[in-house]
Amino acid sequence: HPAPHDVAAAAARLGIPVVGDIELLLREVAPVVYGVTGTNGKSTTTALLAHILQAAGQRAVLGGNIGVPVLDLPRLAAGEGSYVLEMSSYQIDLTPGWHARIAVLLNITPDHLDRHGTMENYAAVKARIFAGQGPGDTAVIGVDDEPCRVIHARLAAGNSGRHIVPVSIERVLDEGVSAVGGMLHENGRPVFALDFPALPGAHNGQNIAAAYAAARAAGLEPDAIRAAIAGFPGLKHRLQRAGMVDGIPCINDSKATNAESTARALASFEAIYWIAGGKPKEGGIAALRPYFPRIRHASLIGAAAADFAATLGDAVPHAICATLDRALDDALAAARRDGLKDAVVLLSPACASFDQFRSFEHRGDEFIRLVAMRAGQAEGAAA
Ligand code: ADP
Repeated sequence: HPAPHDVAAAAARLGIPVVGDIELLLREVAPVVYGVTGTNGKSTTTALLAHILQAAGQRAVLGGNIGVPVLDLPRLAAGEGSYVLEMSSYQIDLTPGWHARIAVLLNITPDHLDRHGTMENYAAVKARIFAGQGPGDTAVIGVDDEPCRVIHARLAAGNSGRHIVPVSIERVLDEGVSAVGGMLHENGRPVFALDFPALPGAHNGQNIAAAYAAARAAGLEPDAIRAAIAGFPGLKHRLQRAGMVDGIPCINDSKATNAESTARALASFEAIYWIAGGKPKEGGIAALRPYFPRIRHASLIGAAAADFAATLGDAVPHAICATLDRALDDALAAARRDGLKDAVVLLSPACASFDQFRSFEHRGDEFIRLVAMRAGQAEGAAA
């Protein structure tokens, strides 16, 4: 941004479309597609929706920006089931023929502006998740942020004939699905309690509400959906319990690559020994200030460490640890020293991983390995 890559510019000049693998799948098999996008919560919601459909006996194939690349997925014959696809904004960009029978837009907050330039442009790409929809199709859309509210208003004012289901975790909607006060509501009526240990926190309420709305549009009943959600194991690297060291839970939230995601993690615990840093994203961690009182100590890694240290200042005790293994030791030492009942060590970096790791998965796997090693050492010492 703002200029396209030379190859893309040359293709545009020659009138050659630039498409991705999902476009090829759609052209080849013209399947029933359920698509999920948003700034945060895509993987959780997509996996949850596929899990719910499968638990209810439907054939649902999970893919896109999660797991197996779409061209390696099994081919579904007409009427055989659905592809449940996580769509990043990049993939939406590269899928000009996109049409989802059920499309979900969770939320829009600043991220990836390096590619998309402005919020308006980014929101316009995300809104294309609803492209090509008409009668028989359903649009599920979070309405708790301004860019999504604008898109919702535009959908509602249109006459495409699609069914529109707004989702909120801030208020109980008369029409739509809400996750408020520990309860899921549909069209203003309570349906079931949000009591799912693998999906903690208000942000997961949004993911559950959106997956519920999509599953309802796919024809499932509330009881079946609730039972299916209760059996959902959760996703790796998202507030995942990596292990315990000396009675201190170590939480792997390596997937939190921006401040927005890390805010959700910090909101989910009371006494936090926080491991953060990596390849910095625009805005740093200034937006996390409201959560600083929960952070007892911060162990900082990677390229962002000095910048994060400056933002934490006198408000949060911290140490620059450079690497993940030193950060884990630093965090555990601080947690042992304080001896607080609700202490957790939380890796929620608010940064990309590429300065020190191949990917967020690599970073999370490394954390899991280090935690297992420390747990073993602690047990050995105790023996
Ligand atoms: P994505 O695939 O969009 O990156 P994930 O489901 O993998 O989203 O979750 C990544 C991180 O984003 C989680 O660890 C959590 O901190 C945060 N998160 C998940 N769901 C939401 C949501 N609905 N709103 C805000 N943050 C969320």
